[in-house]
Amino acid sequence: MSTLYHGGPIHPWADARTVEALLVRDGRVVASGALDELDARGAARVDLGGAHAFPGFTDAHVHVWKVGQLRTTLLDLREATSLDDLAARVAERHAQLPEGAWLWGRGWNEARLGGSPTRELLDRLAPGRPVLLTRTCAHIHAVNTPALERAGIHADTPAPAGGEIDYDSGILTETAYGLVYGAMPEPTQAQFEAWILAGLEYLRALGFTAATDPAVDPPLYAAYRALDAAGRLPMRVNLLYIRRPDGGAATYPLPEKHVSPTLRCDSVKFFTDGGLSGATAAVSVPFRDTGTRGVLRFDTAELYELAREAHVAGFRIGAHAIGDVALTQLLGVYARLAREHPGGPRHRIEHFGLPDAEHLRLARELDVIAVPQPVFLHELRANYDRYVPDELAGQVFPLRAMFDAGLDVAFSSDGPVVRELRPLSGLAAAVAEPYVPGQAVTLDQALGAYTRGGAVAHGDENDRGTLEPGQRADLTIVEGDLFDTAPQSWPDIPVRAGLVADLSADPARTP
Ligand SMILES: [Zn+2]
Repeated sequence: MSTLYHGGPIHPWADARTVEALLVRDGRVVASGALDELDARGAARVDLGGAHAFPGFTDAHVHVWKVGQLRTTLLDLREATSLDDLAARVAERHAQLPEGAWLWGRGWNEARLGGSPTRELLDRLAPGRPVLLTRTCAHIHAVNTPALERAGIHADTPAPAGGEIDYDSGILTETAYGLVYGAMPEPTQAQFEAWILAGLEYLRALGFTAATDPAVDPPLYAAYRALDAAGRLPMRVNLLYIRRPDGGAATYPLPEKHVSPTLRCDSVKFFTDGGLSGATAAVSVPFRDTGTRGVLRFDTAELYELAREAHVAGFRIGAHAIGDVALTQLLGVYARLAREHPGGPRHRIEHFGLPDAEHLRLARELDVIAVPQPVFLHELRANYDRYVPDELAGQVFPLRAMFDAGLDVAFSSDGPVVRELRPLSGLAAAVAEPYVPGQAVTLDQALGAYTRGGAVAHGDENDRGTLEPGQRADLTIVEGDLFDTAPQSWPDIPVRAGLVADLSADPARTP
């Protein structure tokens, strides 16, 4: 089964260089070049109609199932513009739900609302019903009295390690969330499968062909494995398997490794600190406004031990680290792994929020892959203005410095932490909206981070990420010329649904 793509510029290396035609056989690139030079006898011809074809885009950190859950089951609060607006949405959902059922919403942001929802407000809006409203970052949660009661949390309940309980306001941070989550009815595997598929179909519709789901626990892993075995995954998925769930000190054993064309699980996930937009990242200088220095979730010896166990078993590590203190801790752990157990797999740092020059240098030396979220620069800027102290303001997501340091960089959205998951919005933010002047990247760099960088972060660099011969012919097809238009207009350029080569071998069937 061969296919010849032609009729639009094809970018084999995700930069300005183009070829006229691409010949694909059994899902892999055979050759590319001038149309009249390729031997395309017997190949089905697909005319791009003037659109630009790139190697398939990867969102290297997107909570797939939560994106799907928010598009189907959860109350989406990301568009709420004020506390009154949030209250109206909560009251409306309360009226629709059966008695006693949990009301779970997600996406509020106090910088947008002018304040955080309180226990008292939620008690009033949904009397007698447990309510959990997760902040947009998923590190901070607002709950009401019935939710606290079901979770067994009283005014004098101590917070678990790495978390905080503010009983009066009903705000739980970091690991304290596990107490409430554990009191909610456990989703069935069928629910997880439906959420995963809703999330993946959405991402594919936006143009992606691959995604990392960066926090996967045993029931979610089981759902992914079942979907993969049934051939139902519509794109390539990489999983970061959680080792230490919120709410306690229990540790999940290492998972069974699994690598198929559509599902890879050979990585584990740690959260070393909180987030920047909610001022819970571990920082060396107190946040403005809160005066706090965030939360370091592990003591270093314990983090090293958990990481070592994974590393020597050949698991790659993807660890969330945003604050400069968390980056120092994590890079120290990676450095010790490299020293004491050399020759192991390459590890990732998710977010990489506030690196200084020494963090960048050490990351390069250790071959660490950086996975930042350019779209944060667009959506969460007001939060950074509000919380980041002057001393650290020059270190906020310095994307250019990551490239200049020689790191492999993979771009991602961290959806549904942000509303905007479209890849061209991420590209535009990376190229045109640096938080720190001078930290914008070039279009070539940004495209590389969505294509080859994403493949590297998945461990798929020998298999995809460019359109060189032998690579999988996954395609992201853009209906406009990025190289000839201003970044501000990129988000409006249509992108066709991601074309995952071997899953859509018959071009007649692809949307
Ligand atoms: Zn995340």
